[in-house]
Amino acid sequence: MRTRFAPSPTGFLHVGGLRTALFSYLVAKQTGGEFLVRIEDTDQERSVEGALKNILHTLHWAGLEPDEGVILRKGGIAQEGGKGPYIQSQRLELYRSYAEKLLADGHAYIAFDTKEEIDRMRTRQAQAGVASPKYDASVRMNMRNALTMSAQEVQEKLAGAEPYVIRMKMPAETQVSFEDDIRGVVSFNTRELDDQVLLKSDGFPTYHLAHVVDDHLMDIGIVIRGEEWLPSLPKHVLLFEAFGWRPPRYAHVPLLLNTDRSKLSKRQSSVAVEEFREKGYMPEAFLNFIALLGWNPGTEQEIFSLPMLIEAFSLDRVQKGGAVFDTEKLDWLQGQWVRQLSTEEFSRAILPLVTNQFPKAEYDPLFEQRAHLIQERITFLKEAPSMLQYFYEDPIVKNDLLANAKQKITETMLPDILIFLQETLETVLADEWTQDVLKEKLLSAAKLKGYKHGQVLWPLRAALTGLPFSPGAFEVAAALGRDTTLARIEMAMQSL
Ligand code: GLU
Repeated sequence: MRTRFAPSPTGFLHVGGLRTALFSYLVAKQTGGEFLVRIEDTDQERSVEGALKNILHTLHWAGLEPDEGVILRKGGIAQEGGKGPYIQSQRLELYRSYAEKLLADGHAYIAFDTKEEIDRMRTRQAQAGVASPKYDASVRMNMRNALTMSAQEVQEKLAGAEPYVIRMKMPAETQVSFEDDIRGVVSFNTRELDDQVLLKSDGFPTYHLAHVVDDHLMDIGIVIRGEEWLPSLPKHVLLFEAFGWRPPRYAHVPLLLNTDRSKLSKRQSSVAVEEFREKGYMPEAFLNFIALLGWNPGTEQEIFSLPMLIEAFSLDRVQKGGAVFDTEKLDWLQGQWVRQLSTEEFSRAILPLVTNQFPKAEYDPLFEQRAHLIQERITFLKEAPSMLQYFYEDPIVKNDLLANAKQKITETMLPDILIFLQETLETVLADEWTQDVLKEKLLSAAKLKGYKHGQVLWPLRAALTGLPFSPGAFEVAAALGRDTTLARIEMAMQSL
């Protein structure tokens, strides 16, 4: 089935937009169809320079590559596929011709009312106690449009280039029912609807006309979009009917909510995908999080890659109620995704960050060993350089760190302990310098001397890292290498 993501280039990519893109992508892939990107730039005032490129970059970052439509290629923004153009501002003639078809068939009419006239009409309705004033059957016969003017009058105005819009002639008192893939049967009465503007006076279509024409011509099987469009659904269903076209399926995905269940807002959370990207979330983790906003697999499983989502996703497991945007869950998933990486993948991912801060860092087995030590502890890759700092820079070690009341080490004991460490570790040769050998040698030597484990391991770890908390002494010593380990014990002795 062909699906589409149809963003308006009005700024950043909203997290809700990424979710509809993801769900659309998944349905296309599951059914062997195509995932299209169409750009809905018919609101010229809201279009923002650079937004289109940014949205395409962000989709690419998330791994949602379009099969057709507007696509980011090496040379820039391209349009690919046989049903283009895929940018609505390049399809204006087409929309006009379809609007004219509706005029000819009596489903739409031309209206010349100015903004001021419409404002006055609304005020009159409000004064008469109408709850939601609108341009509809109750007022259209009092306005300046082709239903109230003679054909000649209309022709004269058009010839005189008087601005006009084309409005949908909403049928009176008609019940419209439609089966939504998420919500089931939804019903509306046309009495609630206005005579929607289809073509604006600037010659651009509104979303309503453009959506119906494009999704028909582009052969879209299902429209997956945000719940905010649900109230417009009857207009769209009626437009399909007026054109004599079969409507696509529709699935309206639930609203995103803050943790206090208010509508997700910029004031309470970041809502731009770009911001999460900049904060350092992995695309895999972020997409995993987005997938779980309103959808659940019906099992305990929480970690999903894109291929796993293609397997598991289904619209019937998307809930109707709002989906809470819980960034604590996102952070947890991010940590899980870091752990999912192999040591090599993780090492390669952090390498550029680490070399940026410590130019002598390079990819070798020792680097992997170091990376492995932090992989369990890290949430964001960008934390890696500071967590690895003591491997590349000698720490400043204070006596009060080496001595430790809990381990029953006093300052007066330190010289002997450090000499013990130095003498014992010197007996371990470079080619046997592994965690296991270090452990075995040091613990058996400590036993002979009558030291408790903590009495030798705490000062060793502290001398090597300069930190009150770090991975264990043997792991750190092994990942530091023999020379640096011995040099740091020497430095600790000097500092006494
Ligand atoms: N351009 C619309 C929006 O950004 C798309 C809605 C739809 O998917 O049809 O909200």
